[in-house]
Amino acid sequence: MSLLELHCLVAGSPVRGSEKLEVRNPYNQAVVGTVVTASSADVELAIVSARNSGPAPSRFERSQVLEKARNGLEARREEFAHTITAETGLCLREARYEVGRTVDVLRFSAMEALRDDGQIFSCDISAQGKARKIFTMREPLNCAVAITPFNHPLNQVAHKLGPAIAAGTPMILKPSEKTPLVALKFASLLYDSGLPPKMLSVLLGNTNQVAEPLVRDDRVESVSFTGSVAVGKRIAATAGYKKIVLELGGNDPLIVLEDADLDLAAYLAAEGSYRNSGQRCTAIKRILVQESISEDFTARLVKRTAEYVTGDPFDENTRVGTVIDETSAIYLETVVAEAVAAGARVLIGGRRRGAQLEPTVIADVPRNARMIVSESFGPLAPIIKVRDLDDAITLANSTAYGLSSGVVTQRMDWALEAIRRLRCGTVNINEVPGFRIESSPFGGIKDSGLGVKEGVVEAIKCFTTVKTFSLPWG
Ligand code: NAP
Repeated sequence: MSLLELHCLVAGSPVRGSEKLEVRNPYNQAVVGTVVTASSADVELAIVSARNSGPAPSRFERSQVLEKARNGLEARREEFAHTITAETGLCLREARYEVGRTVDVLRFSAMEALRDDGQIFSCDISAQGKARKIFTMREPLNCAVAITPFNHPLNQVAHKLGPAIAAGTPMILKPSEKTPLVALKFASLLYDSGLPPKMLSVLLGNTNQVAEPLVRDDRVESVSFTGSVAVGKRIAATAGYKKIVLELGGNDPLIVLEDADLDLAAYLAAEGSYRNSGQRCTAIKRILVQESISEDFTARLVKRTAEYVTGDPFDENTRVGTVIDETSAIYLETVVAEAVAAGARVLIGGRRRGAQLEPTVIADVPRNARMIVSESFGPLAPIIKVRDLDDAITLANSTAYGLSSGVVTQRMDWALEAIRRLRCGTVNINEVPGFRIESSPFGGIKDSGLGVKEGVVEAIKCFTTVKTFSLPWG
């Protein structure tokens, strides 16, 4: 891939500046791109442009932009996938999967742009009422800010921009400094698809010059953030009087009960733990297995794990690329070593080379191990034995997080009990915690989020306000 030399964009125009961010491939450290970053003046210009972007394009026009962008992305799937792999170290097959998801986000956003979102309330339905009707309509915001993480550098961006465009809300995007290239390419694709330039700016730069001023600015009506708990809580403390959407970290359990189809359970455990190098907010981060089947399940998981080959992320045979950087891989190695010192056993994997860590199955992990109580963002599969469903649910609910969960069972009563009692945003029966479609509601509770959902349909609500109006009727 040739070196990408990009600029931050204010209302479609490249910023001028001297500060350059270098983006390196985590696998071999090669520089894969540079980005000219934004200054405080660019932040001001982006806010002013957004607020003066004029009336929103019609629903048809918004839908057309999204449709054209979808077509454009489909035509350039490989190019976008290569950019993702270059800047993240995720293997090509994961990068291609992410592009496919983004195509869906654009498709569903285009569909939602066309859908009327109003409601009608007849007012003659009570003794206090009268012959009128109340109507609702959604109105775009003047200016919203989106801040995104590194782990799905295209799809997380699309999950903010697609719904914002469908809603007609101008947006300022602050992508991760670790993965800005595909975000900037995506922005160019949107402009090329007819997005009015003032409806989008993309800014990167020092946190105290770009991200924090955007979060604090009173002219910004909404901040939609996806990232870590620590940064999310800081944003909650500093954003002031505006809408905030927080999609934060997770440490999702997969609960495997004694009646489970063990081949399915092992397949789900491996997919949920290792896909995207384990760097999904909804990756499986704890496997809670009923004692009676734990030996059999563990043997099957170890066998499956051997199929997840690590190597050069651009190699077609590689199934697990790197994590985002060597520091993160060293952290993962450390939490594994801590667990082993406390009595856990590594059954397969565990070796690190630079930013690459082999998919690792760890058995007999203590319930209070760091990799269990906090989020470990990498290809780890820690197994804990549980007595029964009650024990599994208590353990699943015992951490600060509450994003998603998976339960493997064939018993409907156990499935329903898990759905009722698990304190998290999603419960997937016989699926990985990360299963979703791009339009379904998505998001966590507790430290994983404020319970405000994303997903294309819900995100449009975050980027709009509801106006009611009433008319005499009859
Ligand atoms: P992060 O460190 O929190 O960074 C996320 C974004 O916030 C980046 O763009 C970052 O910019 C920016 N940022 C950093 N400090 C900031 C501040 N003081 N004010 C405003 N913005 C600031 O997260 P990450 O390491 O990129 O991503 C991994 C995390 O995201 C994991 O915890 C994962 O679980 C979570 N995640 C959650 C979801 C979900 O939907 N719940 C989805 C995906 C990921 P810089 O790049 O400049 O630091």
